Amino acid sequence: MAIATLNPTTGVVERTFEPHTAAQVEEILERAAAANALLRDTTFAERSAWMHRAADLMDADVDVLAALAATEMGKTIGTARYEVTKSANGMRHYADNAERYLAPERPVAPVEVGASAAHVVFQPIGTVLAVMPWNYPFWQVIRFAAPALMAGNTGLLKHASSVPQVALYLGELFERAGFPAGAFQTLLVEGAAASALLDDRRIAAVTLTGSVGAGSAVAEAAGRNIKKSVLELGGTDAFIVMPSADVQRSAEFGANSRTQNSGQSCICAKRFYIHEDIYDEWFEAFLTRMRSTTPGDPFDPATSFGPMATESVRAEAHALVADAVSKGVTVHTGGELPGGPGWFYPATVLTGVTTEMRIYREECFGPVACVYRVGSVEEAIALANDSEFGLAASVWTTDADEIALLQGSLEFGAVFTNGNTASFFGLPFGGIKDSGYGRELGRFGIREFVNAKTVWTA
Ligand code: NAP
Repeated sequence: MAIATLNPTTGVVERTFEPHTAAQVEEILERAAAANALLRDTTFAERSAWMHRAADLMDADVDVLAALAATEMGKTIGTARYEVTKSANGMRHYADNAERYLAPERPVAPVEVGASAAHVVFQPIGTVLAVMPWNYPFWQVIRFAAPALMAGNTGLLKHASSVPQVALYLGELFERAGFPAGAFQTLLVEGAAASALLDDRRIAAVTLTGSVGAGSAVAEAAGRNIKKSVLELGGTDAFIVMPSADVQRSAEFGANSRTQNSGQSCICAKRFYIHEDIYDEWFEAFLTRMRSTTPGDPFDPATSFGPMATESVRAEAHALVADAVSKGVTVHTGGELPGGPGWFYPATVLTGVTTEMRIYREECFGPVACVYRVGSVEEAIALANDSEFGLAASVWTTDADEIALLQGSLEFGAVFTNGNTASFFGLPFGGIKDSGYGRELGRFGIREFVNAKTVWTA
């Protein structure tokens, strides 16, 4: 797709950008290699100081950056400010904790391995390519960049083509903050060209957050080149409510989860399994909330959620709804494309979803909820696990046995109990099955792109 700022509220192209030429890409790769040689010999203290400065720069730019996200992908101005602030704080987390996360370890007593000394050190592996999506245009990048740079790696950002101004800002941020020139740069290239970069010996590894198709293409190229990859892909997250739960609160949180970021989050709750004993009360509360949550101008502080980011993302979400309608689903609210400019889509609630409908299995990246009535916790678990995806689940119950069963049996990368799924700096984030592999954040995240080197001395 073209590299451009296309305002999703108006449908107007505001700026276009030429992709980098082969010569420019070569220059960027050389700068990364040069920065790599410098950065790997810097101390945690030096990198921490630069990282703190980068966080302060983002905080200082918060108004401009929030407006940029609202303009490029339609996020509401309040949530955009929150994302920028979260990104800055995520940088501070790694600035303050990276040294501890990467402290040498002694997994066995040296005598057990016939040594006078034996331990593991964690060293940088080089330049990591980051292929990133537009949905959280700052946070997705920072949660890779902060640990990578703190570990002593250099980064190359291939951001989504729809957020070029965010990409260019992030490509300059770390140099402005004091990191060696070339430590973190933006490559303006289109999606299909990104995989070919893995053939270059100056790129050591790749991380991709995005769709299954893009993840598969990048992982194939990485595999061919024997390079490490981390994939954060889609999700059809389950939301389970049992009779002991706070019905009103869980309905409110469920609606918030489904409509956050216009439904364009991998960890939005998408499939709702509600126990029959509280189904009617819960459904009424949920539907009322969904009906009152309407899309609008992302710059208006009163707006619940903005337009969808691109015309094609809206078309894909609506195609799933239309397919379900053609096969007999019940639409309780929403489900119709609004007229007028911009890529708006209403909060939509479906019941009667069957296995023949595409939306039963496929990820719907829009504010569309599929609600199912279940008779037991076992049925809820079986249905929730009946998915190719396994990113996260949110479960609502106060019954200790049910909590243990749900946390133990759900096949996801995370299970949140009596709260919505979220990402936290210190907790690992990632999925299983088609949701990808590897983890971001916390100690697990920073250890994805390091050489765990065994050092043994007789
Ligand atoms: P996407 O189309 O896969 O794009 C993501 C990134 O991959 C973009 O930079 C895109 O570049 C690039 N890309 C596309 N095709 C490629 C290819 N063949 N080879 C290499 N790179 C390629 O995904 P999206 O529509 O922007 O994002 C939505 C998806 O991301 C959803 O499935 C969502 O669940 C997932 N996601 C997952 C997480 C997570 O943490 N698990 C978080 C957020 C989103 P162009 O823009 O130039 O095409």
